[in-house]
Amino acid sequence: MSINIQRNQKKRVVIVGGGLGGLRLAEDLYGSGMQVVLIDKNNFHQFPPLIYQIASAGIDPSSISFPFRQIFRKRKDFYFRMAEARMVDTEKKILQTSIGKIDYDYLVLAAGATTNFFGNKNIEEWAIPMKTVPEAMGLRNALLSNFERALTCATEEERQELLNIVIVGGGATGVEIAGALSEMKRYVIPYDYPDMDFSLMHIYLIEAGDRLLAGMSQDSSRKAYDFLKSMGVDVQFGKMVTDYRDHKVIMKDGTEIPTRTFLWVSGIRANAMPGISDDHQGRGFRFKVDQFNRIPGLDGVFAIGDQCLQTTDAAYPNGHPQVAQVAIQQAKNLAKNLKRINEGQDDSALTAFKYNNLG
Ligand SMILES: Cc1cc2nc3c(=O)[nH]c(=O)nc-3n(C[C@H](O)[C@H](O)[C@H](O)COP(=O)(O)OP(=O)(O)OC[C@H]3O[C@@H](n4cnc5c(N)ncnc54)[C@H](O)[C@@H]3O)c2cc1C
Repeated sequence: MSINIQRNQKKRVVIVGGGLGGLRLAEDLYGSGMQVVLIDKNNFHQFPPLIYQIASAGIDPSSISFPFRQIFRKRKDFYFRMAEARMVDTEKKILQTSIGKIDYDYLVLAAGATTNFFGNKNIEEWAIPMKTVPEAMGLRNALLSNFERALTCATEEERQELLNIVIVGGGATGVEIAGALSEMKRYVIPYDYPDMDFSLMHIYLIEAGDRLLAGMSQDSSRKAYDFLKSMGVDVQFGKMVTDYRDHKVIMKDGTEIPTRTFLWVSGIRANAMPGISDDHQGRGFRFKVDQFNRIPGLDGVFAIGDQCLQTTDAAYPNGHPQVAQVAIQQAKNLAKNLKRINEGQDDSALTAFKYNNLG
């Protein structure tokens, strides 16, 4: 198998990941005078902020998934390849992928982040994560088949297991999915499953800290809590989930909740790139970058979005939040800088990244 892209006289930029950052970068490099190669393990771009709506059957996957080939129709000097980036040789400037090798002049890592199970293999095996469209569809299928089985199962104990939903992690995703499922319980289940006793459906949101949305203001935390309580969600603080066994979520304090629907949205870690040593990683396994999103010490290698950690922005000394606008704004800034680098301009011509928090 070969990646099958001819080199021409132009410099080549290889972008790993067509998420919110990689897609914007590829768009903005159009007409840059460079050959742009976008590599993604899927052949569609997904819009994560609405993934929870797929899980609760509020929207269809096609509403937030967009084929790359449709987005980039009729682009000159642009190539898309569906492949998984597996390793990079930063000395030889070669990226190894699932469909072969490709050499680059500039490599941009924009592969985002994945669910962090903090090394707990049992939880990783049993919990449902919610980072991607296929994972959200998995949750939707699990929920709907549990509801069907709850109508016909033999014992009350099993029925309760099938109707309990446990969500671990009170960040934005946990709050969103708890809210969406509580709306489903109130507005959909009574009509779609008229013979089900939906008062048995319990939604638990488990958070180790003492408030929801810890990265946001106290006011946002309180409003989120008040809303979820009003919707009947059982929000529990100060609880550490340590295991899942025999259809039970087990906490450090010994308490247990029986459930067949165990969602883990308790943290993320940046996707790895074998070939780049651990020395280049910071908090959350993110690649440390300078103010121009370059990975220092690696010639022509950049990282943007969730995969990078940039501490040069004075307002964000511990790095930016891993949110959509950071990825998009870094991509826009990097596109401008790459064009200048490609024209032979030096660092004094480059613009340092500064995050504009849109709220
Ligand atoms: C459920 C959920 C809800 C969210 N809600 C919000 C919100 O409301 N507001 C907000 O601002 N942010 C939200 N975020 C965060 C936001 O989506 C991310 O910060 C943003 O997508 C980061 O962009 P990125 O380009 O760095 O990575 P991503 O958008 O995650 O893109 C990474 C891309 O890389 C590809 N990829 C990964 N590994 C490889 C590989 N080895 N080879 C090839 N391709 C690879 C993936 O297929 C993907 O297309 C949410 C995230 C999730 C998961």
